[in-house]
Amino acid sequence: MKVLIVHAHPEPQSFTASMQRHAVETLQAQGHEVIVSDLYAMNWNPVVSAADFGTRKNSDYLVYALEQRENVAAGTIAPDIRAELDKLLECDLVIFSFPLFWCSVPAIIKGWIDRVLVSGKVYGGQRFYDRGGMRGKRAMLAYTCGGRDFMFDAEGVHGEMDLMLRHVLRGTLGYAGFEVLPSFVAYHVPYIKPAEREAMLGRYGDYLTKLDQLEPLSFPSLDDFDAEMHPRVRTPQMTEQD
Ligand SMILES: Cc1cc2nc3c(=O)[nH]c(=O)nc-3n(C[C@H](O)[C@H](O)[C@H](O)COP(=O)(O)OP(=O)(O)OC[C@H]3O[C@@H](n4cnc5c(N)ncnc54)[C@H](O)[C@@H]3O)c2cc1C
Repeated sequence: MKVLIVHAHPEPQSFTASMQRHAVETLQAQGHEVIVSDLYAMNWNPVVSAADFGTRKNSDYLVYALEQRENVAAGTIAPDIRAELDKLLECDLVIFSFPLFWCSVPAIIKGWIDRVLVSGKVYGGQRFYDRGGMRGKRAMLAYTCGGRDFMFDAEGVHGEMDLMLRHVLRGTLGYAGFEVLPSFVAYHVPYIKPAEREAMLGRYGDYLTKLDQLEPLSFPSLDDFDAEMHPRVRTPQMTEQD
């Protein structure tokens, strides 16, 4: 398969960067094709603006999503967005590799999402969740954090990590139509011993060799909603006793 790793850490010697390199080695050893978008190294511009568009449908008032649709179709979207969009459209799996910042992705990744997950190709016209443009592709998060694992249990002080990241897992990746795999999380990274971090790298490598065995996260099917997105009223099934 073709794998795109969208990586964001400002320090190339960081543990997160070690994880990203380990992912490349592991996936390539399995025969997969891997492309890395190293956002800090690329000096990726995360800020949406009118400069993203070579032409304008409406030059008086910027409707960003409308101009995304028009400019992708016309071939006039900014070259940096086009290059990332091409990588995205060609891949089977996207891995987002990053340190957890404020229980979210770093701003530079958020800006990749804002600019690359374009209206028209990725979503729009009631194409989301199981009708989203990324249907047939998989996505997962692989991230490091300072907190300890038990802090992010259901009973933990912060509550479940997946609920913290629901806006990304469901609101972005699930919405876009990706099959979202469970995240790989490296906890307490700056505070543990080097040998423990090395063991973590080993666990990450094992994880990447077993992606097909992972149960994807569950999101709604639009079949269960009407044209206005109200839940469909289910008629009880008749049984033989009825
Ligand atoms: C703005 C901001 C917000 C944050 N918000 C949160 C939050 O909400 N929740 C939370 O839990 N944390 C939070 N953090 C903490 C952050 O998530 C962690 O500090 C980060 O994930 C640690 O990963 P790193 O790659 O930066 O580690 P680094 O500090 O780069 O690495 C740790 C150590 O690993 C070493 N190392 C590198 N490669 C290897 C290797 N191959 N084998 C062994 N050791 C290696 C490095 O030399 C270093 O000594 C936040 C941090 C910032 C700056």
